[in-house]
Amino acid sequence: MKKHNFNAGPSILPQVAIENTAKAILDLNGSGLSLLEISHRSKDFQAVIDEAMALLKELLEIPEGYHVLFLGGGASMQFCMVPFNLLNKKAAYLETGVWAKKAIKEAKLFGQVDIVASSSDKNFSYYPKDFVIPTDVDYFHITTNNTIYGTEIRKDLDSPVPLVADMSSDILSRKVDVSKYGIIYGGAQKNLGPAGVTFVIVRDDILGKVDRAIPSMLDYRVHAQNGSMFNTPPVMPIFTVRETLKWLKGIGGVTAVEARNIEKANVLYDAIDSSKMFVGTAAEDSRSLMNICFVMNENYKDKDEAFIEFAKTRGVVGIKGHRSVGGFRASVYNAMPLDSVKVLVEAMKAFENING
Ligand SMILES: *Cc1c(COP(=O)(O)O)cnc(C)c1O
Repeated sequence: MKKHNFNAGPSILPQVAIENTAKAILDLNGSGLSLLEISHRSKDFQAVIDEAMALLKELLEIPEGYHVLFLGGGASMQFCMVPFNLLNKKAAYLETGVWAKKAIKEAKLFGQVDIVASSSDKNFSYYPKDFVIPTDVDYFHITTNNTIYGTEIRKDLDSPVPLVADMSSDILSRKVDVSKYGIIYGGAQKNLGPAGVTFVIVRDDILGKVDRAIPSMLDYRVHAQNGSMFNTPPVMPIFTVRETLKWLKGIGGVTAVEARNIEKANVLYDAIDSSKMFVGTAAEDSRSLMNICFVMNENYKDKDEAFIEFAKTRGVVGIKGHRSVGGFRASVYNAMPLDSVKVLVEAMKAFENING
């Protein structure tokens, strides 16, 4: 049976990216060698990382003055690398969920942290709006899409200080004005590739301003100067990232995928809003296009497991909600086809007809 993969991360990738990676693992470019056993400094791999960087620049329209880095350590490593490189005295953070809280915890090791706004009062079910970004801080950090709670800010803020964004779960899902950001980072394993590689888009002129010494491996400048080859980069994941970016370009780039994402999300939110059994958990004006969270309403609270099992019989997998929200979460990243969303919606309707 065809599986409809709604996993939150690692998550669905374009089939062609998986197939091309599988082929390259067996034989890269007819070289008789596997992608897994070649030098990262070989011509074959240099071409891969060069193209991956160039495609990311092209698809996101990254202006001059920025470097694209492919690093290890996950988005979680960036939680400390950002303050290590940028925080001299004080930074400002938006507290919009578990990932933001983890980023804040690490920043506090390096200096003072102002929480500009928080949505913790309502279990992070909305994206704060009326906040003012302070001018006396080294940078302002936000999480654009809160993967666990299904909230997202879908506009680019004007910030008087360098804006740093964790875009792990919505990178390339919508058009972004990169020029408004000092750093955009994220783990690849939500919308871009497999686990193991972390992307960082950094504006050169914000670096080199802290007083502390920075260990080479944590210094953005070192990685930028070495084209992400200061040490061995995650070779295989970077290959898959390139394949995913090629696929994205082939379907029309970010503008086309954003339109698809809006259509997919509308289909699912409409189904939730018109249901008597399911209820959305995120405030309507904060709803994410990538992670769609919903629960059973009070009358059907004991039916969570039953619905998850019912959906599985139709090939729908990965919809169990995160424990801090409960219920269900459908992650509908770029690679998720509309047809799979429709299969989920049909399953919801059928389940409601039987049990409602
Ligand atoms: C998944 C996720 C992370 C953690 O990523 P790792 O690569 O596992 O460290 C951080 N931030 C957001 C928004 C995420 O969705």
